Amino acid sequence: MAMNVKPVPTLDERINDIRMRTAEIVNEDILPNERLLWRAAEDSSFTEHNEALELRAAVKERVKQAGLWAPHLPEEYGGMGLDFLAHAYMNEVLAYAIGAASLFGVVAPNSGNQSILVKYGTEEQKQKWLLPLIEGDLESGFSMTEPHNPGSDPRSLTTSAVVDGDHFVINGHKWFTSNGIDADFFIVMCRVVDPNAEDPDPRKGPMVQIIVPTATKGVNIVRGIGVWGRKTSDHCEVKYEDVRVPVENALGRVGEGHQAAQDRLGAGRVYHCMNSIGQMWRAFDLMVERARSREVHGGLLQDKQFVQGFIADSYMDIQAARLMTIHAAEKVDGGMAAARTDISAIKVFVPNAYTRVVDRAIQVWGAAGVSNDLPLFGMYQGARTLRIADGPDEVHKILIAKNVLGQFASGEGWDFGN
Ligand SMILES: Cc1cc2nc3c(=O)[nH]c(=O)nc-3n(C[C@H](O)[C@H](O)[C@H](O)COP(=O)(O)OP(=O)(O)OC[C@H]3O[C@@H](n4cnc5c(N)ncnc54)[C@H](O)[C@@H]3O)c2cc1C
Repeated sequence: MAMNVKPVPTLDERINDIRMRTAEIVNEDILPNERLLWRAAEDSSFTEHNEALELRAAVKERVKQAGLWAPHLPEEYGGMGLDFLAHAYMNEVLAYAIGAASLFGVVAPNSGNQSILVKYGTEEQKQKWLLPLIEGDLESGFSMTEPHNPGSDPRSLTTSAVVDGDHFVINGHKWFTSNGIDADFFIVMCRVVDPNAEDPDPRKGPMVQIIVPTATKGVNIVRGIGVWGRKTSDHCEVKYEDVRVPVENALGRVGEGHQAAQDRLGAGRVYHCMNSIGQMWRAFDLMVERARSREVHGGLLQDKQFVQGFIADSYMDIQAARLMTIHAAEKVDGGMAAARTDISAIKVFVPNAYTRVVDRAIQVWGAAGVSNDLPLFGMYQGARTLRIADGPDEVHKILIAKNVLGQFASGEGWDFGN
């Protein structure tokens, strides 16, 4: 079934045009070919896999011709140069089809690394790392979370970078570094530690992000961590053992590392939520379609009140999630700091709503719902994972409450209109 996207009366012509043209490619080129496009190398013949690669290249070419490539990048780097809100509105459309974001040039964690390199990179770093990353000649990962420290409190990280002459020497242990198998470089979150200081506690040094080529001696990929029952994945455990990289590989100034990570995650959370909404939209369409055609106990599912309840609850979940996310995106357009509470609110609400919507769609489809024939099982796992990645629910609820209580403490109530 094609995605039903029409111009939104309250949106300007430019954003509507982007959404309509994105939907055209999703409906004409991606949805009808979803199975062919994503045939994995291990499950298909050499010819079939090559056909899939050719098809992907053809869709990417059409996306580029349509001027819809890399919405997250400025025009000078070959992207669309979109403002935040337009990008968010585009995401809900392109996320409707499985894997479509990558065909529009947005592939995490490369896309987040590209944005950080655009913002913090020196001219030399841009030439060496950013441009080949955009061209697809290099792959990358973002290496922050550590197995022995809580990722939900990034200030606890202890990977150290010691300055030795004109090099950093990095030691630390990370995991869940996504895209770690293919990556040519990692952006590694470290603390700069002075070994001669009175108290060289690795928890106290200023944070910095350092570009580390994965081929450097001492970068040891321990394993691709198996997730959701699969033997392996590209989320890697990595040990950094006396890794030497030039000091000019620092991305931004020493001490800016935590802020840079927040910039990356803040924007990313809104985009991820808009992606989730596109996927909820798809799950909703699949559920309603099935309810209209499946007969059980002498009648169509659409005539059973349980199922009508699923449709109504899912409609409310999607609409609430969507409007909250658009509200947060509008705030980000006016500055990231003002949007913190709303970003945390969507980071909690949207993955939970997404989980509920997909859960109902699976229920309506019965056994087929958990089969590999439909995209629902992958959405279910993805939605559940989103409640942990980029900061778990609890951390964001704490932040919301802190901001609300802080405002009341300063003598003002919360203004829900702003
Ligand atoms: C699929 C996937 C991909 C990822 N990719 C990357 C990546 O590319 N790079 C990277 O650096 N990291 C990545 N991560 C790691 C992710 O960011 C962390 O898992 C996340 O920040 C949570 O950290 P943690 O797993 O250490 O959980 P912990 O910090 O140990 O938290 C465990 C649980 O404790 C609870 N909790 C935490 N704080 C509080 C509190 N204050 N009060 C009450 N309860 C609390 C929450 O329920 C939380 O889920 C990825 C994770 C996943 C699952």
